[in-house]
Amino acid sequence: MSETAAAINAREEFIATKGRRKNTVKCDADSIAGCVSQRACVYCGARVVLNPVTDAIHLVHGPVGCASYTWDIRGSLSSGSELYRNSFSTDLREQDIIFGGEKKLARTIDELVAKYQPKLVFVYSTCIVGVIGDDLKAICKAAASRHNIEVIPVESSGFIGNKSAGYRAACEALLTLIDPVDRPEAAASKTLNYMGDFNLAGEAWIIKNYLAQLGVKVNTVFTGDSTSTALKTAAKVSLNIVQCAGSMNYLAGKLQELYGIPYMQVSFLGVEDTSNSLRNIADAMGGGEIRARAEVLIRRETDRVMPVINKYREKLEGKKAAVYVGGGFKAISLIKQFREIGIEVVMVGTQTGQREDYETIHELVTDGTVILDDANPAELERFMTSQGAHLLVGGVKERPLAYKLGLAFIDHNHDRKHPLSGYDGAINFAKEVYSTVCSPVWRYTVPKGGG
Ligand code: SF4
Repeated sequence: MSETAAAINAREEFIATKGRRKNTVKCDADSIAGCVSQRACVYCGARVVLNPVTDAIHLVHGPVGCASYTWDIRGSLSSGSELYRNSFSTDLREQDIIFGGEKKLARTIDELVAKYQPKLVFVYSTCIVGVIGDDLKAICKAAASRHNIEVIPVESSGFIGNKSAGYRAACEALLTLIDPVDRPEAAASKTLNYMGDFNLAGEAWIIKNYLAQLGVKVNTVFTGDSTSTALKTAAKVSLNIVQCAGSMNYLAGKLQELYGIPYMQVSFLGVEDTSNSLRNIADAMGGGEIRARAEVLIRRETDRVMPVINKYREKLEGKKAAVYVGGGFKAISLIKQFREIGIEVVMVGTQTGQREDYETIHELVTDGTVILDDANPAELERFMTSQGAHLLVGGVKERPLAYKLGLAFIDHNHDRKHPLSGYDGAINFAKEVYSTVCSPVWRYTVPKGGG
């Protein structure tokens, strides 16, 4: 078997090496049975998108394990309500599986509404609910009219697909929430929605601050630090900007189709992407004064952060990184951001990347880079080793893979407490890469580590 061959034959199509004959990877497909995919389940995909809606009740209709698995998932920050940080479950037991869980669900919604008086309840479907066939829609509709609030079913049973299906289920739930508007009036509003930022460590606040300096108002963020009232007004904007394409392109496309709201892809990861995104937003919002203010901000921030980043670059030049993240657009931004600090990406993969994402990745990386979709732990470990990576950037499930190999690790997802977006985020990123790659700890572990 060659160094970059798949361990399971059926996985061959999902792996490519830049510069070899095969230069495309299969993607956007269900995981292969027998492979331990790094992807989360459908319900989890829906939960990560919706959980940052701060004033909502997030009720998981299923066994208690589904709710505890995703409790306070990602730790998104709130400037107001903390209700979303609870994890409510109907705690389905054997009796409920045999006789149905609908009455229990209705009772649970009543109890939660009486206790917390929410304006919005999301009810998530889990694997077992799809199996026993509880009518979520009917129960939610009846509860909504009983309490005169929004009770929205999230169709996220495990077997309807992969994590991407969960993103879509979350988008469908959000669409139900958004109030329709008169389009000509909305187009004149000169405000935008910032989509695909979950405010894990305050990133949405950083970007809102930049846009305020440009004179551009953010109507709501999807869904970091958002409220049900603000989300309802989402159709009143003149533009949607999308950071996380994997989770939000579907909703942005629907808002364009229904209300004619255009959307554009942005990225606030790294100095180059942040500056380009601010310019693109300024132009889309009318250019002129807004663009002039964007240039002032870009110049001031670039002058401030580049000397710091260059200091880290001197220490990191020549190191190699492996990237395994959720969406394609994040992977693309990371390849560029690593280049800003002198690091070459030698392995790159995603859980839910699309064909266009992989085409861009293929263009960006150098010959010999391994590109793979929907990887499993065995593949990640093998390619990190064979490619000579000094660090892995990924999420909570990838952390132990790197540490067991004695490699540095950057959390770009669930567990981090410092923002990686915008100019300050670019400094945080360089600093974190430096402290993990150049940590003295690697001298005391297996000899594969960096440093
Ligand atoms: S929804 Fe299904 S796959 Fe997801 S946590 Fe619950 S039981 Fe597991």
